[in-house]
Amino acid sequence: MTTTITSFQVRRSSGELTVQSGDFPPLQHFIDGEFRDPQRESTTTVVNPADGQEIASVPQGTAAEVDAAVAAADAALPAWRERTPQDRSEILLKVAERIENNADLLARLESLNAGKPHAVAEDDVAGTVDIFRFSAGACRAITELGSADYVTDHTSVILREPLGVIGAIVPWNYPLLMAAWKIAPILAAGNTLVLKPAEQTPLSLLKLMELTADLLPAGVFNLVTGLGREVGARLSEHPDVAMVALTGSVGSGKTVARAASDSLKRVHLELGGKAPVVIFEDADLKLAATSLRNAGYWNSGQECGAGTRVLVHESVAEEFTDLLVQEVSSIIVGDPAAGEDVELGPLVSKEHHERVAGFLERAVAEGATAAIGGGPLEGPGYFIAPTVLTSVQPGTEAAGEEIFGPVITVETFRTEEEAIDRANEVPYGLAASVWTRDVARSLGVPRRIDAGTVWVNSHLVLANEVPWGGFKGSGYGRDLSAYALQDYSRTKHVQIHHAGH
Ligand code: NAD
Repeated sequence: MTTTITSFQVRRSSGELTVQSGDFPPLQHFIDGEFRDPQRESTTTVVNPADGQEIASVPQGTAAEVDAAVAAADAALPAWRERTPQDRSEILLKVAERIENNADLLARLESLNAGKPHAVAEDDVAGTVDIFRFSAGACRAITELGSADYVTDHTSVILREPLGVIGAIVPWNYPLLMAAWKIAPILAAGNTLVLKPAEQTPLSLLKLMELTADLLPAGVFNLVTGLGREVGARLSEHPDVAMVALTGSVGSGKTVARAASDSLKRVHLELGGKAPVVIFEDADLKLAATSLRNAGYWNSGQECGAGTRVLVHESVAEEFTDLLVQEVSSIIVGDPAAGEDVELGPLVSKEHHERVAGFLERAVAEGATAAIGGGPLEGPGYFIAPTVLTSVQPGTEAAGEEIFGPVITVETFRTEEEAIDRANEVPYGLAASVWTRDVARSLGVPRRIDAGTVWVNSHLVLANEVPWGGFKGSGYGRDLSAYALQDYSRTKHVQIHHAGH
């Protein structure tokens, strides 16, 4: 039996919907430039996680609908890939502008469907606009290595080409933003696309299709709503899909990679994380604690790069934990519609709420102590108290598994070697941070940490110019930056024999 935590009050809204039904997008698939009625009647119910009330229901797409979307993307490919980078860039800039002009509505939809506080939803939309602008610029800036004769009388030219039709499967934690991280570089690199939103959070992406329908040629960008095991599975195995790009859990990543193996399509995987936060005895503890107030609890901790696993030197562990608990105690929890100052909203769904609550119960059973928070907050809605778990033992579930909720665990270490070993002992390798004032350490330790991003004296600070992606169980391939454009394209060598003609 789960105990309800009373130290945090959930601020409630009036219950009025923050998006009028007239502003909802059509709840249909978007294929070949138009919204289409689904083939069958089964739907998925979409809820407002702040109160559990149903707000919409969207079609569960079929394999045949995926096939139609792939065929449309395939038909649109030749014309789209032949456009110059400048042409594609101009269209993507218009997409960015359209999103920006509708930023408030998109943010409200995202907030309603995913339980995002105002600041998070606003940041997601701003990041979405910017990745379209970045990709529009980047596709024009990339030039390949110069041509040359490496064999006498044979000139080699290196071409960078789009891959073809790409299937993109995205999660619910940043519905619009994680999709934009894929859509923008995929289209900029000259590919066409079929997108599958997470079943819990399709609304902002359906709105995006509606908003941009007149900007992109028919078939370039298609969307099919539905279940992972149907729509996602068909995209992963489809013989005419050149690559499947997934942001999601490790389990889904493995399934997608297996399904993709038959057709030997490329796979791009942005999976889970369990970012270690390594705090040395010489660190600015106050800075670390205030930074983690954000980096551990942003988006209710439903963040693959969240700073969730503190490894702190035993000599400063108590002082640091006190500072962290003090920071966490002032977090404003509530329905995102209850005010722009709400900082921590609900988790996305009933299932996920139960999952996180289960982690907390088992952590305490395994000897951890909740220094603050520790469990679900009073309903309705899927709220969990912001939590700091101390006395977490190495090797326990809470120390090694991605909880994906507003929970930071605190473990201690004695030596630098031990800190590095422990940071690397989890199967994930997405992100990490190192906190120290020592210059040598700030250069040396990040090199030895197995994570795609390592911050020094900060955590969860992202920019669209720099790559994002993991090692080990966190997957492979890079989102953001010019590296994403490379991942979504292929290299061709053309050699011209020019003697005696
Ligand atoms: P999930 O794996 O359950 O779902 C992600 C997407 O995959 C959904 O669209 C889902 O329908 C689809 N899917 C599920 N099973 C599938 C299958 N068999 N075949 C094809 N598609 C399938 O993940 P989630 O719960 O929506 O998202 C949370 C996870 O995403 C966390 O593990 C988080 O760390 C990870 N994530 C990673 C990053 C990153 O950049 N590395 C970013 C955000 C989230």
